[in-house]
Amino acid sequence: MLTKNIPAFLVLAASMTLVACGSGDDATPSSAAAEAATEAANDAADTVAEDAQDVVEDAADAATDAIDDAADAVADAADDAADAMADAADDMKDTMADAEETVSDMVDDAAATVAGDSDAPAASGDCALTIEAGDRLGYNTDSLTAAASCSEVTVTLVHTGKLPKNAMGHNWVLVKKSDLDAVGAAGMTAGIDNSYVPVGDDRIIAATQLIGGGETSSTTVDMSVLDADTEYAFICTFPGHWSIMRGSFTIG
Ligand code: ZN
Repeated sequence: MLTKNIPAFLVLAASMTLVACGSGDDATPSSAAAEAATEAANDAADTVAEDAQDVVEDAADAATDAIDDAADAVADAADDAADAMADAADDMKDTMADAEETVSDMVDDAAATVAGDSDAPAASGDCALTIEAGDRLGYNTDSLTAAASCSEVTVTLVHTGKLPKNAMGHNWVLVKKSDLDAVGAAGMTAGIDNSYVPVGDDRIIAATQLIGGGETSSTTVDMSVLDADTEYAFICTFPGHWSIMRGSFTIG
């Protein structure tokens, strides 16, 4: 505004000069004053025009800047949105990866649980032992171990063959190792109706029934009657079997 006021002041000054000189006789000074006034007026007009031009240019610059700023803001917003979407996509990927890991872990756990279940009889087998015999002479193992922590141990004999018990019968009889041969011999005369186990014989610690193919029989061993310093053995007392079907029973 200051620059606009200066030309107005100059115009006023020039006019006053023209008025002051107008009363003189010489026309030349008046003419010079008129020229000066005209120039001042022209200068003022130029200055106003230039100022107007500057204002328009400033406005145009301001508008351009505003448009640029707006464009920048839109671009920034677009970038931010793109970043946000990229972040969201990354987060989703991570979440899905985590979910996949979780599912994988669950599958592993389930597999481990299933595997553990299948091993469960063996894992808890110290107090619940299983032994097999088939249509040939012989058990599937020549040693069983019972955990000392068990108050009693259940031994299950499974006949995996097909022959009947009078042809290929088996039982599982627990005795002291020192009594093995004597009990085996006594069993031969005990008869099939008694499962070839001598009746009332206190050398018999535990005994299953005599079984044939496809059958199962269990007996319980009272661990409190066993002596840690004594060797124990199991045998099949079916006639002729005890010399081959025998094994050691240890307390682990
Ligand atoms: Zn046998």
